[in-house]
Amino acid sequence: MNISIPKEVERALNILQNNNFEAYIVGGCVRDSIMGKLPSDWDITSSAKPEEIIKCFKGYKTIETGLKHGTITVIIGKMPIEITTYRIDGEYTDNRRPDEVFFTSDISFDLKRRDFTINALAYNEKGIIDLYGGMADIKNKIIKCVGDPNERFEEDGLRILRALRFASVLEFRIEKNTAYSIYKNKHLLKNISRERINIELNKLIMGNNFHQVINSYRDVVEVFLPEIAVLSKEDLKYRLNSMKRLNSLSLRLTLLLHGIEFPDKILTNLKYDNRTIKTVKLLSENIDGKIFPESVNIKRWLNKIGHTNLKMLIKIKSALFQEEKENLLQSEIIMNKIIETNQCYSLKTLAVSGNDLIEAGIPKGKNIGIVLNDLLNKVIEGKLENEKESLMNYVCSGL
Ligand code: ATP
Ligand code: MG
Repeated sequence: MNISIPKEVERALNILQNNNFEAYIVGGCVRDSIMGKLPSDWDITSSAKPEEIIKCFKGYKTIETGLKHGTITVIIGKMPIEITTYRIDGEYTDNRRPDEVFFTSDISFDLKRRDFTINALAYNEKGIIDLYGGMADIKNKIIKCVGDPNERFEEDGLRILRALRFASVLEFRIEKNTAYSIYKNKHLLKNISRERINIELNKLIMGNNFHQVINSYRDVVEVFLPEIAVLSKEDLKYRLNSMKRLNSLSLRLTLLLHGIEFPDKILTNLKYDNRTIKTVKLLSENIDGKIFPESVNIKRWLNKIGHTNLKMLIKIKSALFQEEKENLLQSEIIMNKIIETNQCYSLKTLAVSGNDLIEAGIPKGKNIGIVLNDLLNKVIEGKLENEKESLMNYVCSGL
């Protein structure tokens, strides 16, 4: 097995080894490389203690990412590389984080603390270290805990969700004992911070096999997302299938949560950012609104929710209501034309402003808004040109 390592990472390994420390790439980057995927980041595990790592990389920028847990980030070229000292996790009293960690000079202990066999592989120029059958499990597409699953989930409940996440992203199945233990221990997810849940849940939802994983492990997901319990089996299945047709997180979340009460509250609770929450709320509220492939209707929609949101609404409705697809496609074409040709659909692009009306002698106040919207409506309906003179003429004729 030969893994091609970026030259920056190679250099970090060499620097550690030239200083008489052991050093390996480890975890996700080894797993992904073996699977022929490009890793998103490269982690190194080393026998060097944190202060020794800092010494080795004197000429480089280093960040003390988690000194207590033995992690130093070194910047080589422009690449941040996390180097972590071989460690043994101390006792877990809260199912979340070890109370303390112990550094060790034996890599086997470091691999033993890792969650799944496929994540417990280390590699350097001498070859692979595979103490828990991770290579075979990658080949057979299996997620399996390192050691006793009950113990490992009790130590850190997030691993339950991580198992589902890897099953979705990698399209692996979860080994029988590990799966059984996931069901048995699912309540442990209640102890996990919502920030940590958020990260893993997003990866799960964006993974290739999210629909099967959520369908099969619905009870587990309901521990931190109890609101989806109101969905019938068929409804959930239908939603998950529709979600496959969309490739953004906000759109997939909308399909999962629309029609359930207060999707924005659910997402706030799970620590989503304001933008995602706002988008999901707006799309959920409008998902049953009728979109017709005709210019007046599309302009009304553009005025109501804006171009970006209407694009998303059309996408999401096409995914959910297949029978409306053709109409929605036509609507999209009409929308694009309205945008490309800068047609007026909002007060912002109306050729007269409130000031114009005041200058023409309309009293300030509520009236101005009413008149402007009346003008906009007439422009949208094609009854008036969006042109200042004709609009002012129309207004003044009514005075
Ligand atoms: P990704 O490609 O999404 O980054 P990854 O496997 O690298 O996947 P990370 O969350 O970056 O996942 O973690 C890096 C490595 O640290 C894992 O491969 C695993 O060996 C170990 N690890 C991470 N989280 C845990 C955990 N909760 N319990 C045990 N080991 C963990
Ligand atoms: Mg990683």
